Amino acid sequence: VKVLGSADELSELDALRGPGPLVLVPTMGALHEGHLELVRHARKLGPAVVSIFVNPTQFGPEEDFAAYPRDLASDLELLEPLGVEAVYAPAVDEMYGDSEGVSIRPGHRARGLCGAGRPGHFSGVLTVVAKLFGLLRPEVAVFGRKDAQQCLVIGQMVADLKMPVKLVDVPTVREDDGLALSSRNRYLNEDQRRRAVCLSRALRRARELLDAGEREAAPLRMAMGQELAEADSLEYAEVRQVPDLQENDRLSGRILLAVAARIGPARLIDNMVLEIAEHGVNDSSFFGAGRET
Ligand code: AMP
Repeated sequence: VKVLGSADELSELDALRGPGPLVLVPTMGALHEGHLELVRHARKLGPAVVSIFVNPTQFGPEEDFAAYPRDLASDLELLEPLGVEAVYAPAVDEMYGDSEGVSIRPGHRARGLCGAGRPGHFSGVLTVVAKLFGLLRPEVAVFGRKDAQQCLVIGQMVADLKMPVKLVDVPTVREDDGLALSSRNRYLNEDQRRRAVCLSRALRRARELLDAGEREAAPLRMAMGQELAEADSLEYAEVRQVPDLQENDRLSGRILLAVAARIGPARLIDNMVLEIAEHGVNDSSFFGAGRET
């Protein structure tokens, strides 16, 4: 895989711009099967570039920026068979320089959920995503549905700042027992790994209630909270409307079930995006066919 490390080298991407779209998959590395699924999806859409950058501005002062796993050699090995055109792996200086620079203030979708527990996080995410869009000029960018609020906050940025990029979201890849793959799962010991499955179990439990006809948010929140008793601490267990994340008592249309909890040293999140139709509840997406951001 060709590795590009500086903005100067990015002109090499111009040869890839053609009739098909150039597709970007932004990541922080420590790649797992979830990331690889995004890349496979990207490859179906056009020539694909993967960015690998542990973005300091999206980590809070008490968070795991220093400890976050970094292994470029193994990431490149995993990407090798997937046929990506290039990996862009810039240094922090390349992205931020040493001055206090411009940053992006997210819109209302960044309030609540992870925005409440991680002040500044979404501003950091949007700032780095905007820089990546500016540098790489992709026509399409692929994101994981696992980071639900991130998808919606980026969707609002792209729409409000009129960025010429189409967004695509890919379903969450899970372990056999339901645990969503995450680079942070490697912080878990055996007991914590076993308990971590309570996040996806909470979502499934809420989904069962919806399938049985429940349309009030409160019982869903309560059921999710009960399943999450196995976590070391619960950050949130919420039901929101999609895409603007309002909290309605009575649910209809597209909804997001979202949970965040701490298990040992890891802060884990998971979610389900669903469409409540007249005759039942279906899996849904953020940027799916024909939908606006
Ligand atoms: P990260 O490296 O954690 O910033 O993630 C990079 C991209 O991979 C984001 O768009 C994530 O939503 C996506 N991603 C992370 N985990 C998964 C997963 N288990 N399934 C699908 N996409 C994922």
